Amino acid sequence: MNKGVIFIISGPSGSGKDTLMVELFKKCPEIKFSISSITRAMRVGEVEGVKYNFISKEQFEQMIKEDKLLEYNSYVGNYYGTPRKPVEDEIEKGNNILIEVDVNGAAQIKEKMPEAVSMFIMPPSFEELERRLSGRGTESEELIRKRMQSSLDEIKRASEYDYIIVNDDIATAVDDIISVMRSCQLRQEKQKHIIEEVLEKC
Ligand code: ADP
Ligand code: 5GP
Repeated sequence: MNKGVIFIISGPSGSGKDTLMVELFKKCPEIKFSISSITRAMRVGEVEGVKYNFISKEQFEQMIKEDKLLEYNSYVGNYYGTPRKPVEDEIEKGNNILIEVDVNGAAQIKEKMPEAVSMFIMPPSFEELERRLSGRGTESEELIRKRMQSSLDEIKRASEYDYIIVNDDIATAVDDIISVMRSCQLRQEKQKHIIEEVLEKC
């Protein structure tokens, strides 16, 4: 059986990652999602165990000590990390899994698993990014300023990614993500069984 594919999604805060992922999972419910462990406070509307497990700094540092994280990073004063086991279990079972991480996390995963396929969600412009982040209304002015600084650093590293998805129109961006995913499934190394099956019956 083929192993599943790891898809990495990154992009500056406010670029629309969550919005696109909600639409993506409606269209492709079979894709698994890696739930991150994080130490930031829960936002209004967030639910424990859906996108994130909200844990303490001490619990997070224990996970680092026990090598339970595939990658982790500190972002605007909080830890964010990807638990290793659920990702390894899903790809062993042949399932594709989506991991949302920042650029440092993506680089760590690519180093350990170069076969992972990475996508960077690009806003149409920096001004639009600021509009979306402010418009979301989840962060204070001070945090928005810090996130915009971090966004600039992330956009400068977008060329490290395999694919750039521009999120101008939501439906188009979701279709672009699905196209990347489909093309990965069609790669010859994923289709070996078909070649063998056809040849066997010759
Ligand atoms: P992220 O997960 O990358 O931080 P969000 O998905 O929370 O970003 O999106 C930030 C804000 O921008 C939200 O208010 C969302 O509704 C809005 N948004 C997302 N995509 C678009 C788009 N293509 N056009 C206009 N607004 C968008
Ligand atoms: P937010 O606080 O807006 O939910 O996320 C802030 C940043 O952390 C985003 O860039 C997001 O992609 C990133 N992030 C989310 N989960 C992880 C993770 O598990 N690891 C790393 N390195 N970054 C993450």
